[in-house]
Amino acid sequence: MSEFKAFSLLASIIDRVSLKGYTQPTPIQQACIPALINGNDLLGIAQTGTGKTAAFSLPIINNFGRNKIDIKAKSTRSLILTPTRELASQIMQNIDDYSDGLGLKTKVVYGGVGRQAQVDAIALGLDILVATPGRLLDLIETGDINFKALEVFVLDEADTMLDMGFFRDVQNIISKLPKNRQTLLFSATMPAEIEILAQDILTDPKKVEIAAETVTIDLVNQSVYQLEKSNKVPLLLNLLLQPNFEKVLIFCKTKYGADIIVKALEAASITAASLHSGKTQAVREEALQNFKDANLRVLVATDVAARGIDVDNITLVINYNLPEDPRNYIHRIGRTARAGKSGMAISFAVENDVRQLTNIENSIGQTIPVVIEQPFHKEFSKAPKPVQKKKPTKKNNRTNKSKKTRTKKR
Ligand code: AMP
Repeated sequence: MSEFKAFSLLASIIDRVSLKGYTQPTPIQQACIPALINGNDLLGIAQTGTGKTAAFSLPIINNFGRNKIDIKAKSTRSLILTPTRELASQIMQNIDDYSDGLGLKTKVVYGGVGRQAQVDAIALGLDILVATPGRLLDLIETGDINFKALEVFVLDEADTMLDMGFFRDVQNIISKLPKNRQTLLFSATMPAEIEILAQDILTDPKKVEIAAETVTIDLVNQSVYQLEKSNKVPLLLNLLLQPNFEKVLIFCKTKYGADIIVKALEAASITAASLHSGKTQAVREEALQNFKDANLRVLVATDVAARGIDVDNITLVINYNLPEDPRNYIHRIGRTARAGKSGMAISFAVENDVRQLTNIENSIGQTIPVVIEQPFHKEFSKAPKPVQKKKPTKKNNRTNKSKKTRTKKR
């Protein structure tokens, strides 16, 4: 018997969840679903990958499925605000799967695609609207949407909104919402600005914190490859000679860099595409879909474009460039080792990266082993500062070593 049955969810929702193959609620679902069905506000400190989409959307679908109303034109009963187009369409896809058969009216809106179909859908009145901030503000300004009928507001990935410079837009949108509503705020981290916002918009919230980061680290076999910058493409091609690296996600710093890597891979007959904000939405979606369907072996992405993308069975994540923000290291390697599977993450490091690497190691509380048995290995002269060990948790106390690696000298 599915433990989802323990929640008072509509039978059709339980069926849809079983069809998706979920047997047990994840910890965030366990904590959130009953509170949200009851109408509580919620502060969820959790990142994508924890099952948070179902945690917030199942109660909304359930409550609206039980209590159907005639929705007024140009209004929506719920708003889910999320930072990127990819996240928005992923959330919409999940909601449409979970709510199938209930006759709820749903729509996703984001920029970069025509707005008329969005305007037409909202004109009929919606149960659930998933939106990114820019296009939503545009629709508000033109009077194509109002929030008179709003019952539930979900702010997803609040810290990413801040990182991407959307915070004012978010505040502007919140100022247009009715005060009397249920509010849910999700954020992977709690910088001061989000803390203040949470105090401002949540009333007596249930607080749920999921330490997904330590879980991720535990399941990912991480390593560093030290090399000269000019050897990055040769090393990449060398690594991809291994056929067991079937689905590979590469992170790099710039859009330009991503396109260069794709060209080098294609020249070596490796199927690849890039995912970044310089591409049209249609091209981005096609690339992502082809990668999901395994028509492409490699996807090369920048941090912003890839934040939160949900692709199953990624075998290897390569940090072609190290992320500047150590938190992004965890987000990146968390793309592999999902749903309890193990995964692999390889980081390329040039001599100038030593400090950045040490910051990352300090942030995860582990030394990442260096692979020396590789054709382009380079010894670095700068000695790294010792890693400040974090107090080991139950999940991250595994050592991350293999035979061909060593952890001391860099
Ligand atoms: P999310 O954090 O919402 O992006 O979810 C991450 C992934 O976990 C998605 O692929 C979901 O389909 C999947 N998922 C969500 N809830 C469950 C569950 N209870 N059991 C198994 N997989 C789940």
